[in-house]
Amino acid sequence: MKFELSELHYDLDALEPYISKKTLELHHRKHHQAYVSNLNSLIARTKFKDLDLETIVRVADGPVFNFAAQVWNHTFYFEGLLPGNNKTLKGPFADVIKNNFGSVSFFKNLFIRSGVSLFGAGWVWLVLNPDGSMEIVPKSNAGNPLHIGLFPLLTCDVWEHAYYLDYQNRTQDYLEAFWKLINWEIIEKRYNEFTAIAD
Ligand code: FE
Repeated sequence: MKFELSELHYDLDALEPYISKKTLELHHRKHHQAYVSNLNSLIARTKFKDLDLETIVRVADGPVFNFAAQVWNHTFYFEGLLPGNNKTLKGPFADVIKNNFGSVSFFKNLFIRSGVSLFGAGWVWLVLNPDGSMEIVPKSNAGNPLHIGLFPLLTCDVWEHAYYLDYQNRTQDYLEAFWKLINWEIIEKRYNEFTAIAD
């Protein structure tokens, strides 16, 4: 299977002022594209060449896992953003968050703190455990929850390429800005899909 770069469902300047056009352009057209191209080269003529991306992320290790997960993670990250959103989390899904973390503000602070304290490059995930409980899981490098049997709901890319042009070393400012762009409807939809499978 030859993988292709997933399209963004918004314009390159749509996330401004939180994420600049320059950052998004580099991030999507250069970094994300490079992961796709490298994955295609790497798996050609291997046992992975006919598998779908999610299966490769679940079963592969080493360089194949790294590139496949980076492709998957970036698509998931970009899909979870909504330009001009800046909406607070409310409604039934906010109650789910409160049941798991005590309050929405505690959840937000924990997520942001997990991103700031991640050593080196990586991803912060909100995941659903097999028992239905939620957890915030920081992962280094290309780390992906599917690989360890957890269900991803939300992720923030905390590789420097995601924010350095806009925020330099101010990782917390980037994470606060990211928070204003989260598409909670998509996160809730993912949650409902996973809980429907589990029922
Ligand atoms: Fe990235």
